[in-house]
Amino acid sequence: MGFIPDHIIDDVRIRADIVEVVSEYLPLKKAGANYRCLCPFHEEKTPSFNVNPAKQIFHCFGCGEGGNVFTFIIKHEKASFPEAVRMLAKRYGVDIPEDGGEERSGEFEKLYSVISAASDYYHAVLKNQAKSSPVWRYITKRGITPEIIEKFNLGWAPDAWDSATGHLNDKGFDNKILEKAGVSSLSSRNTYIDRFRARLMFPINNPGGKTIAFGGRLIDSDPKGAKYINSPETPIYHKSKVLFGFDLARDSARKEGKMVVVEGYMDVIALRKAGINNCVACSGAAFTPGQAELIKRICDNVVMLFDSDKAGVEAAKKGGAILLGHAMRPKALILPDAKDPDEFLASHKPEELTRLIDNSPPFLEFLIEMAVRNADLSGIDGRIAAIGQVIPYLKRVKDEVERAHYIQLLAERTRTDHDALRRQVAREWTGPEEIKKGLAPQKKRASAGMMAEKMLVRLLLNHPDLVAEAATKLETDDFSDPVLKAVFALIISNAGKHSATTPADMINLSNDENLKRFISALTMEEEMLDEKEVETMLADCMKKMRYDPQERSLRHQQMKMALKKGENEPYNEAKEKYLQSR
Ligand SMILES: [Zn+2]
Repeated sequence: MGFIPDHIIDDVRIRADIVEVVSEYLPLKKAGANYRCLCPFHEEKTPSFNVNPAKQIFHCFGCGEGGNVFTFIIKHEKASFPEAVRMLAKRYGVDIPEDGGEERSGEFEKLYSVISAASDYYHAVLKNQAKSSPVWRYITKRGITPEIIEKFNLGWAPDAWDSATGHLNDKGFDNKILEKAGVSSLSSRNTYIDRFRARLMFPINNPGGKTIAFGGRLIDSDPKGAKYINSPETPIYHKSKVLFGFDLARDSARKEGKMVVVEGYMDVIALRKAGINNCVACSGAAFTPGQAELIKRICDNVVMLFDSDKAGVEAAKKGGAILLGHAMRPKALILPDAKDPDEFLASHKPEELTRLIDNSPPFLEFLIEMAVRNADLSGIDGRIAAIGQVIPYLKRVKDEVERAHYIQLLAERTRTDHDALRRQVAREWTGPEEIKKGLAPQKKRASAGMMAEKMLVRLLLNHPDLVAEAATKLETDDFSDPVLKAVFALIISNAGKHSATTPADMINLSNDENLKRFISALTMEEEMLDEKEVETMLADCMKKMRYDPQERSLRHQQMKMALKKGENEPYNEAKEKYLQSR
């Protein structure tokens, strides 16, 4: 588990009550043995998010998210594991000693301090620059107001080799930590120099509002350097999980039920100036699934407002696919006669931009328009090409009515026969991707043997005193379900090492996200047995877990073959027999 000693982690977990911790974030209500509320990790109307005080775990039966108190903090706060432990340690008065291996544990705090000190420094330097300096001329030209400068804590990294490095050294930070924070870098002469020089600085914050990195725009007549550079990845900055401006946009996005995603820092600032506050930038890189998850915590509606060049359109396509994959509602907007929002606002009123954003087309409509615009629809080839561009995205539309609507629209716009198009889409449906879904563990049609495996693992999780007996009678190879096998292996590997082993402990022992969720789901289902019944049940399960390995291996081969060929029927047949072969 890294740099916090295991006994401390255990101590924190034992003292931190999951109901108490979750209650600080969510309105839990008692429901039987559990506490329940609407799930914070997916959108729902009836509560399926459960917290069990006895087992110290949570699980959502809607989206499958689950784990122990650390998992909850990690998911909800977007924290790392050590950060989660630290937060809870602080709250429950557990001391984390600062010795030996503890050096790294203080590292996060140190990195935050470095970045915060650097941010303050850049900001102060900007305010001390003469109004006639190039950076202030740029600020004036782009119409960046004093309010914006304060709100985003904008700064100026001077055109010098070591001004920030020297200043931070004086504050007591050594060069190693400055390098790690991405503020300084080692030069070819083996000295530490400022990474950002002659740049307007945009502090990048985590969702909690703490500055963790920078973006810097070159302000220089000398066009040698890159226009924009970013901090490198650091232990506290993971590009793919951060959106510029998110901490400032969250409240208004929640209120409006919608987030506007733009390409760059200056776009966010342009929109802010126009009074549009629910706006973030993916800053430098393409839109990522991690960023989609961040927005999904707030709202489902996302307007992608990207530059009107080819790169912008491609970025919107990729972003739209990611958002559809997260069951969100993407829209895409390409501004007329302007390359970006800033340029648009130079010649249009803010209300015009607001109106365009409010009326921006759903992503699929945008996609169809783009496909049609670039195609020659006079011939069949052009139509097929245009349709081919849209179909992969159509598949991602979860809602059937919505999907039918877009098929209709695509048929109209490409002047294609609607029925023929519908049939083609349907044909593409049962591709290998659909069949693969069948490989996931199936709840409804599980065989008696599978049920026994599952029941047995649940018994062992909920009744640690049974583990010793089971360990002498069963081996991991007795399990056919790979997930149950993994959980069983985990239980056995831990047997005898800890005096009391709860499901929450098991979740700590595993590094596998899916396994964590599986364990929380499994143990959350109550079995309602008294002591005697538990023992009988254990014996029963073991009895039922006999199967014919040869038959199974044959059926498994058949399943793989069918999958390879993309044959649905033979696949289902083989799977049925596979599940019964025990
Ligand atoms: Zn959920």
